[in-house]
Amino acid sequence: MEGFIIKIRKEPTELKILKRLNSRTSLSAKDKNNYHYLEKGFEGEKKFDAMIGNSSEYLLIIPDLLFEYQNTTFQIDSLVIAKEEIYLFEIKNNERDHYFKDDNWYLISGKEIKNPLLQLKRSESLLRRLLQSLGFQLPIKSFLVFVNPHFFLYQAPMKAPIIFHPQLKHFIDDLKAKSLKLTDRHENIAKKLLSLHIEETTFHHIPEYTFEQLKKGITCIKCSSFMKALNLKELACEKCGTKERSEMAILRSIDEFHLLFPDRKITTKCIYEWCEIIHSKKMIRRILTENYTLQGHGRSAHYVRKKTQ
Ligand SMILES: [Zn+2]
Repeated sequence: MEGFIIKIRKEPTELKILKRLNSRTSLSAKDKNNYHYLEKGFEGEKKFDAMIGNSSEYLLIIPDLLFEYQNTTFQIDSLVIAKEEIYLFEIKNNERDHYFKDDNWYLISGKEIKNPLLQLKRSESLLRRLLQSLGFQLPIKSFLVFVNPHFFLYQAPMKAPIIFHPQLKHFIDDLKAKSLKLTDRHENIAKKLLSLHIEETTFHHIPEYTFEQLKKGITCIKCSSFMKALNLKELACEKCGTKERSEMAILRSIDEFHLLFPDRKITTKCIYEWCEIIHSKKMIRRILTENYTLQGHGRSAHYVRKKTQ
């Protein structure tokens, strides 16, 4: 079989929520930092995906896996199944200067940070045990990948499994060049791992918020600023000029409402309040009726996503 990317990398839910909260409330400095950290991490992972690509080489590429094994959760940024081995990549988008001393990592300011090589070792060990329990014996090669050209590590240990930005292209070219035709067994490993992948359901870095606290309105798809209604059918962002049909913007806003308040019922009244700049309840009701299923009667009536959504 030919190699390909098996699964699409999704924006982490925690990042999605923080991005919306950042527009609709003022985040604390700590939450803002965390938001930017997650955003940067996601950008780094996408950069790696773009580099490793969707080639026709004999590699199976699976981004973003989360497993629970023996009561421990572990995450893999990118996993590549090749003929003779499995590659595990921990992707970092750090920038600026760091240094390495006595097995510890420091910012150039002297502040110690978590040693990412330890995290890599832990993931490798857990993955090895997981694969063994499934009866697969391929050796694992794990690497810490720094995708940011502005990252530098002083006193980097030469033998550490680290790929720095200037080495990355060569590493990937090499990996592709030496890849060999895969068999059904490789496909089975991929399928099995995908079936064990779990979706994240606990978010540790999201501050508490309520519907009442958040600023209402429709935010721009491109820059997240609040939009203005040009007329009933069209909205525009005053900041970046993006225009959008009201209907599309309302559908996006319903999704956003559901993301931020998964336990609240979707009703015409609350979406009308949430969107704020759409001055037609009738239009919101029509959009909900067309795209969602109405459940319940009278005061308990609310909309739920159609099964196909
Ligand atoms: Zn905009």
